[in-house]
Amino acid sequence: MRKMRRKGLASMAVQTAETTTNSANTVDLGPAAALSCRECGHQVPLGPVFACEECFGPLEIAYDFSAYDTEELRRRIEAGPANIWRYAPLLPVPADVADKPNINPGWTKLVKADNLARELGVTGGLYVKDDSGNPTHSFKDRVVAQAIEAARAFGFTTLSCSSTGNLAGAVGAAAARAGFRSCVFIPHDLEQGKVVMAAVYGGELVGIEGNYDDVNRFCSELIGDPAGEGWGFVNVNLRPYYAEGSKTLAYEICEQLGWRLPDQLVVPIASGSQLTKIDKGLKELIALGLVEDRPYKIFGAQAKGCSPVSTAYKAGHDVVRPQKPDTIAKSLAIGNPADGPYVLDIARRTGGAVEDVTDEQVVDAIKLLARTEGIFAETAGGVTVGVTKKLIDEGVLDPSLTTVVLNTGDGLKTLDAVAGTGLTATIRPNLDSFREAGLA
Ligand SMILES: [Zn+2]
Repeated sequence: MRKMRRKGLASMAVQTAETTTNSANTVDLGPAAALSCRECGHQVPLGPVFACEECFGPLEIAYDFSAYDTEELRRRIEAGPANIWRYAPLLPVPADVADKPNINPGWTKLVKADNLARELGVTGGLYVKDDSGNPTHSFKDRVVAQAIEAARAFGFTTLSCSSTGNLAGAVGAAAARAGFRSCVFIPHDLEQGKVVMAAVYGGELVGIEGNYDDVNRFCSELIGDPAGEGWGFVNVNLRPYYAEGSKTLAYEICEQLGWRLPDQLVVPIASGSQLTKIDKGLKELIALGLVEDRPYKIFGAQAKGCSPVSTAYKAGHDVVRPQKPDTIAKSLAIGNPADGPYVLDIARRTGGAVEDVTDEQVVDAIKLLARTEGIFAETAGGVTVGVTKKLIDEGVLDPSLTTVVLNTGDGLKTLDAVAGTGLTATIRPNLDSFREAGLA
């Protein structure tokens, strides 16, 4: 099945490897053939690099899927484990990845949300892809699981990242299970709950006196210093591998729909990476013949308090102007999203859109999803549900089409957002009091 290094880009990858001192072409990362620049197409061998040496553009994985037979591949996936490794033939991981110690995220529920559909007037089928079911309760487990396998292949012994919370927990858990040292950097004044959720896995957790930008700047210095040698930073030098984890959302949604593309997807935007990789995953399934080639639309969702991409979309711009974030949707609060321009391209190319909602609408949407479907979403999930409602109200999203909305994390992570929700009544412990309160 994995006949590697064949024609085309694979042979280019080998040629490039021979002309550099990098020995990374010896690593086994399954169908991954090379790293390819998204801007200029320049290719380099697989290695722990993330920026193009020609133009500084972002690198992503190029694959060689040419050996695959569609029906054999479908059977192999369907016979695979109930986690992201069922898609190992389409990911930058070795074929025996399922046998390695990994927290094995994915294969989360695709919930048919009929109650929510009735409230929103959706008649074509509404689904919530609920990624709160991952081991550390957010979609970050998908991307970190990929980064761990790349770290193993490149011989790293320490796993690291800069984080504001969710990613720190995902790295801590994955490193604990896989037997890596983890050393994660966070702003020193994070909420206690987030600190505990990252620290409980036993790795080193370092508070940096400064804000998230300061943490990032420090990590960049550490990568270039001998002190950081042997360190894999999941979202920096392992970023091309890490980012591929988001493709599994697209694979799962289509397989769970019976190997069918949804008509419309609503995806939250932080850096924009997840949305671009979902699009990449859908295109791969079409190219491999695993789903019928028909149009789909991808909609991006942001909070108004951090809406650089939706602002650019509405203004008709191709560039994204940075903003200073001010929103309760902290997991989406990236004011200068690296993949913003790619998101604009995809939204326009597929006939989708990018929209934003206020913090008040985010809270309303969290409660709407909870009371209609029994799903308690974190604020990012409130953003996607809120944007879905707004797009339907505006006549942009077609309610007669099959629509999938992403919930990327558990509401327990962002309890403060719904802190005002509480008791219906307080009564004395007798029936008279119960009746007086109008509860009978
Ligand atoms: Zn380039």
